[in-house]
Amino acid sequence: MDTPVLSVIIPAYNEGPVLTITTEHLQTVLSEANIFYEILFVDDGSTDDTWQQIESLAKKDTRIVGVKLSRNFGKESAMLAGLEHATGSACALMDCDMQHPPSTLVEMYNVWKSGNVDVVEGVKQSRGKESLIYKGFSNLFYYLIERTGKIKLRDASDFQLLDRRVVDIIIRLPERQRFFRALSSWVGFNRKEIFFTVEPRASGTSKFNFYTSTKYALNNITSFSSAPLQIVTITGTIFFILSIVLGIQTLVLWISGEAIEGFTTVILLLLIIGAMIMFSMGIMGYFIGKIYEETKYRPPYLVETSVNQKKTQS
Ligand code: UDP
Ligand code: MG
Repeated sequence: MDTPVLSVIIPAYNEGPVLTITTEHLQTVLSEANIFYEILFVDDGSTDDTWQQIESLAKKDTRIVGVKLSRNFGKESAMLAGLEHATGSACALMDCDMQHPPSTLVEMYNVWKSGNVDVVEGVKQSRGKESLIYKGFSNLFYYLIERTGKIKLRDASDFQLLDRRVVDIIIRLPERQRFFRALSSWVGFNRKEIFFTVEPRASGTSKFNFYTSTKYALNNITSFSSAPLQIVTITGTIFFILSIVLGIQTLVLWISGEAIEGFTTVILLLLIIGAMIMFSMGIMGYFIGKIYEETKYRPPYLVETSVNQKKTQS
């Protein structure tokens, strides 16, 4: 069987309301552009009829491939599963909810096809509908990660097209806890940006809420940079300098016989320093947790079943 040129990888978690519509739309656009493709769905442990829909689509068309994970492993793991099961000479990652326009996908494909580009990045031109709070937090997140990780991520998205050689590098990386956007930026190679407007979600609801977004952000900052650990050193240094100043003052007062009475200062100092120590331990604990997770060597996802799957897994 000949291998497709383009693998479109779509992670799907409870995308029942949009899956079939997305697929049909995508198929029309890809056929019109004369692209030899496969559409690879990764069902990330959905609890609705997502998998049934994938199966029935796959029955009608062998270019639709489905991989079902044994439970919800999260979008990052689902994307990795997609990359590992794709067979195309180029792989594109796309959301299931049509927020990533298929027309942009064709543009990306053409850029890749014209040669000499290994990574085509979809860059958000307008971020679509997001609440002010969401915008604030995502700005903070990108600020932190850009300052600390030295990679440009603002307005980056998971909507990217990768050449086979980049895909092979990414799937061979030994790390388990991944942050695709940062990894794809980390690998380097010839890159080109393509701007796209984030469409409103076709139907259904976002799978991320405040809690999962925060967890996602923390997870990704810590898996990409050890800078938070430096916060511990910096606060330590600041407190050391303060303690010298305060120590000298205390000594001077004591020598001159004017030592302060009362506990206010003592209590305040205890509270502040205590809180700082706890905070620092929290940061260190988070990183130790990361190391613990990585050293367990558990696979990032488990496949329960698949349809039309062509790749023989190593
Ligand atoms: N997704 C996934 N696993 C998850 C959460 C999300 O595979 O645990 C998929 C989801 O089905 C969609 C994509 O990731 O295709 C983006 O999710 P969503 O549209 O909910 O995120 P948002 O656009 O709100 O950031
Ligand atoms: Mg979305």
